[in-house]
Order: sequence, then structure tokens, then C-alpha cells
Amino acid sequence: MQLSSRILLGMTLGIILGLILNALGGDDPNKTPMIAWFVNNIFDVIGQIFVISLKLLVVPLVFFSLVCGSASMGEDVKMGQVALKTVALYLMTTAIAVSLALTVANIVDPGVGINTSEAANYVAKQAPSFKEVFIGIFPSNPFQAMVEGNMLQVIVFAILVGVSILQAGESGQTVLRGCQMISDVIMRMVSILMNLAPYGVFCLLAKLFTSQGFSAIVNLALYFGTIVFVLLLHASMVYTSIFALLTRLNPITFFKNMRPALLFAFSTSSSNATMPITLNVAKTRVGAHNSIASFTVPLGATVNMDGTAIMQGIATVFIAQAYGLDLSMGEYLAVIATATLASIGTAGVPGVGLITLAMVLQQVGLPVEGIGLIIGVDRLLDMLRTVVNVSGDGMVTAVVAHSEGRLDKTIFNDTSEQETPLKAPGHQNH
Ligand code: ASP
Repeated sequence: MQLSSRILLGMTLGIILGLILNALGGDDPNKTPMIAWFVNNIFDVIGQIFVISLKLLVVPLVFFSLVCGSASMGEDVKMGQVALKTVALYLMTTAIAVSLALTVANIVDPGVGINTSEAANYVAKQAPSFKEVFIGIFPSNPFQAMVEGNMLQVIVFAILVGVSILQAGESGQTVLRGCQMISDVIMRMVSILMNLAPYGVFCLLAKLFTSQGFSAIVNLALYFGTIVFVLLLHASMVYTSIFALLTRLNPITFFKNMRPALLFAFSTSSSNATMPITLNVAKTRVGAHNSIASFTVPLGATVNMDGTAIMQGIATVFIAQAYGLDLSMGEYLAVIATATLASIGTAGVPGVGLITLAMVLQQVGLPVEGIGLIIGVDRLLDMLRTVVNVSGDGMVTAVVAHSEGRLDKTIFNDTSEQETPLKAPGHQNH
């Protein structure tokens, strides 16, 4: 069976088993000790090891791909131009996402009539200020940045190394060849992990659905439904239009090509953990050249979170309505601006979008403890919004690569390669 079908099967079986176990009593050790033991000692262990192994690859993969990418850009592609286009597209799509979210939320009114008394126990964590986020992009110690997994700093350092390699003549070329070899080896590791993915995602989802079930959603169905609707709208209307308009390629083929990365995003709820797969898919299935993808994908996984911004827009309206507060036009504009910035400050790991939501709420003077109202359904929404986050990274990568003449249409349209992303990982790396 082909890889994405196997991953899909693993996911479906995991969800079904999880829901059955949840119906049988869930992972409460007092009620059903056997199930609890199994879930915590088998599914949880395998699932966690799987995610840890994915994360293991993130720093070395980003660093070496990006060094090779920026060094091999040469004269025909200008780094500054690529960076500008990428950042502009990331910001623009996020701003559209929040605006869409605010508009739909005001039509649906998901928060009217909610009982706010249960929110009292939520204690908000401190969200970083924009100034801190901005200064934090620049590394003082590259090794510390790698150890802490601070991706923006790793990206800045890798570009600096790549550009210097380009200017360092013969020695630079020798270093570049070494980096390319290491990069190939790391891509191979990504392939190995992708092959193990069906088992990993099975365990992750079985564990999650055993403990969560669907019961939590019932009370907040309208809030949940509104977010799902806007996520779908954003991916199916905004992304497809921008993609089709700017590349003149078929957006359905694009989403098909992205499928393995989207399945990973759903299963791990983490753009960062999915990043090795997104990069692999962007190069070997979407057809973006490494010189573009190695910059846009890690950057996107770190700063571009349209799905998260959608959740934050709807959550803001929901909380305002739940507390019976009205937002002015100016406050809506402030929400669009802060949610766009919050999406930059949101790390691509599970659940962080809820923490940076505090920043948005504070900006317009809404009670931060309102987050307590929506926390119950956030785990499942996190999976869905991460899929949109990763789709956005892929879409912008394809658009930027196309605009630079670095999108290989043969790879993009090659449906025979659709299911074989492992065939030649990195074959067009350099
Ligand atoms: N889980 C999301 C991501 O990794 C971030 C969030 O919204 O919490 O993309």
C-alpha cells in the first residue's frame, strides 16, 4: 500500500480504537485499569518517541538545508527578494485569515448565552511582547539557539553561513560540498521516519481519543463548528485562489501533493515536528527547489500560523460575547493586527496558540480567563488548525518558488511520483 494511504489508515484506526476505548471507560485508572495501563504504557510511549524522533531532525535539517539553499542561490535568485516576498505573503494570508474569522464569528454569534462562571479558574501565562519577539530573531550564540531549538535564530545564522560560503571562494565550495552530503544523509533519516509514521500516528491518535472522546465538544459545538468552517473556507477559497492566480497551476494537485505533510500535521498538532516532512514534500512532490523551500518552509513553520490566527479571531469574538462585551471597529482592527503578530510569536508546537491568545485578548481589554471557556475543545481544534498552518507554508513555498522560476512543473504534475516521496529524497537538493 502507498505511504499516504498507510498513514491515513493508521490515523483512522487510531481514532476508531480511541473512541471505542473512550466509550468503554477511557483512560481513568480507577474505572478501567487495563485500558489506562495500555494507553499510558504502550500508545503514549510509542507516540511520544515518534514525535521526539521527528523533532530530533528539525534543527540539523533546517540548518544544513538552509546553508545549502542560500549558498546555492547564486546570482540568479536574490535572497532579499525571496525573503521579502515570503514574509509579505505570510503576513497577508494571516491578516486575511483573522478578518475572515472575525466576519464569520460575528454572523454566527457562537458566544451569545454562554455561562462564564466556569472560566474563573483559568490562570493566563505571560505572552511575549512584539519587541521581545523581534529582538529574539537575532542569535547571540548559534549553538545555544540550536540547543534551545530557537528556529528563527537558527534560520538567521544558517543564511549568514550560506551567504558567507558563497563569498569565500574555494574554501567556501569545499564546506558547501560537505554540507550537501550531510543534508542528503539527513533527508534519508526523514524517509526512514516517514515509513514508520503509520504506527506512530496510530498510537498518537489512539491515546488522544481514548482520553478526549468527542463529549467535550458538545457544549461548545457552535464555537468548534465556526472554527472548522472558517479553516475550511480559508484553505479551500483563499489558498486555492492565491495559488491558482499566482502560479496558474491546479490547486487540487497541490493539496494532493501536500497530503503526507497534512496528515502529519493533523496527527502531531505541531508545525515544527511536521517540518521535516513538509520540507521533503515541498521539494520532492510540490517541486520547489531547495534554495527556496529550505528558507520558506522552516520560516513558515515558525511564523506562519493562519489556522491559529483563525482560532484566535473567533475565540476573541466568542469570549467578548460570552462576557456580554462589545468590540468597536478600532478594536477589531487591533485584533487583526495583534493576531497576525501573535501568529508570528506562536511556536509551532501543540497548544501554544491558546497562550498567545492572551496577548490578543489583553490588547482589546477582554478578560484573559475567558480562555478557560474554550480550553476543553482546543486539543482537537489544534490538530485541525495545524493542518491549515502547514498548508499555508506549502502554498507560499510553491508561489515564491514559481515566481523565482524555481518550481519544477514536471515534479508538480507527476502523479506517478505522487505516492513515492521516498523514492529519491533530496534528489534535486542542490
Ligand atoms: N499547534 C499549532 C502549530 O504547531 C500552533 C497552535 O496553534 O497552537 O502549528
